[in-house]
Amino acid sequence: MQDKIDQLRTLSVSPQALFIGGAWRQPVSSATMDVISPIDGTRLTTIADAGKEDVDLAVKAARHAFEKGSWSKAAPAERKKVLLKIAELIEKNALELAVLGVRDNGTEISMALKAEPGSAAGTFRYYAETIDKVYGEIAPTAENILGLVHREPIGVVAAIVPWNFPMMIGAWKIAPALAAGNSVVLKPAEGASLTLLKLAEICAEAGLPEGVFNVVTGRGAVCGEALGLHMDIDVLAFTGSGSIGRRLLEYSARSNLKRVYLELGGKSPNIVFADVPDMDEAAKVSAYGIFRNAGQVCVAGSRLLVEKSIHQAFAEKLVGVAETMKVGDPLQFSTEIGAVSSEAQLGKDLGYVEQALVEGAFLRTGGKRILGETGGFYMQPTIFDIRPDMTLAREEVFGPILSIIPFESEAEALEIANATDYGLASAVWTSNLSRAHRMIRNIRAGVVHVNTYGGADNTVPLGGVKQSGNGHDKSLHALDKYVDLKTAWIKL
Ligand code: NAD
Repeated sequence: MQDKIDQLRTLSVSPQALFIGGAWRQPVSSATMDVISPIDGTRLTTIADAGKEDVDLAVKAARHAFEKGSWSKAAPAERKKVLLKIAELIEKNALELAVLGVRDNGTEISMALKAEPGSAAGTFRYYAETIDKVYGEIAPTAENILGLVHREPIGVVAAIVPWNFPMMIGAWKIAPALAAGNSVVLKPAEGASLTLLKLAEICAEAGLPEGVFNVVTGRGAVCGEALGLHMDIDVLAFTGSGSIGRRLLEYSARSNLKRVYLELGGKSPNIVFADVPDMDEAAKVSAYGIFRNAGQVCVAGSRLLVEKSIHQAFAEKLVGVAETMKVGDPLQFSTEIGAVSSEAQLGKDLGYVEQALVEGAFLRTGGKRILGETGGFYMQPTIFDIRPDMTLAREEVFGPILSIIPFESEAEALEIANATDYGLASAVWTSNLSRAHRMIRNIRAGVVHVNTYGGADNTVPLGGVKQSGNGHDKSLHALDKYVDLKTAWIKL
């Protein structure tokens, strides 16, 4: 496999256009943006920098396709065939897609292969298999009435996604939206557009009618804003930061009240009690739960709450794991922590290290940029002991920084765990079944792991509470975001 990866990493990538109405188009302004590879800081290619006119064209194409009905009115079993073909083609091209994505955003290939094409193919397959098995309803009405509840596609869905796992997160929105019969306009993040442009090609090859899936690349402040304010978009599905999520709600209020579904950030507590079943396993899984993809994971367990009696011992084990994790070239299969996605993000991460030191946090390991000679953006896995009032306890870093906070009792652990504006993921490590269930009930988060961290699949929803968002991706529940309910009230 490494030989094949090494061949793929040198392929030149041609300048990329927009995918609108089933064809590649240059943006009206002809503007482009450089794609800088975080592996070595060199220019990989350019992407189109779409403006408002391009967004208008994409939305028109999507609306036209929706009204035409060749997808929106197709039998679910027909849509299923095309979605299954998309899944098959993603799998067929998995290594090519994964390498391209890694060159774009720096995720280590061992993770990217599973989490990007691997996961995206699974998501397309899941919703393909689902869509001809969900029924409308007959309401329990009076004898002389027939009350029917139809499920209908809504229209044009815009999806705006981040750079950390573009294919996986993209598929979480695109696959259920398409399965339900909608048309989609996708805007990838500036720093991770290439695999999603390939996905457009794959969708066309699989037989998705033209205009049903469109991709516009460009700056969030321009093309993202144009989508947010567009009067002919019905649903906006977003994954990204809270600050942009807020703006999208404003855009909706200022335009056509489009439905806005937000999957935002986290400051997830990973809570280790002294009766943890296996301390070595917990230390390893916890380190991987924050450091993979250089900490750029929305559900990363960035706050490690550990019971005081095992604080030192557990922290030492964590440091041991962190210091042996292999950081470097993300296209080496053995690499465990790849590149930080951009120089700007690396600067932000290092800024948090400086701030933590100023606030008096205790640096146990890491904290530095490394491998600068490669030109790429690499950082040591970093572990601090902190107090709950410090910046690192409150703000999402989105980098390879773990903060340890000791606690004395279950009640205190819970209080610290919930003392955050976020509520995305969490974990509890304990041998006490009753305590595990108490914590599941009382932690305010969308996910509570028990004696593990980070696992999930398409069968379970992912979404946050509090300022981590609204709505859920994945599972049957996600379909509800992309269908309208229509009541038929019939007098018999
Ligand atoms: P971001 O909010 O900066 O950008 C996300 C997307 O929004 C990008 O496509 C960007 O171009 C676009 N955008 C930027 N400004 C915009 C504007 N004014 N109008 C419309 N769109 C605009 O986030 P990011 O830096 O790409 O990703 C990191 C964030 O995403 C973190 O906060 C992370 O926790 C979150 N995230 C959440 C999940 C989840 O499932 N909850 C998953 C992954 C990442």
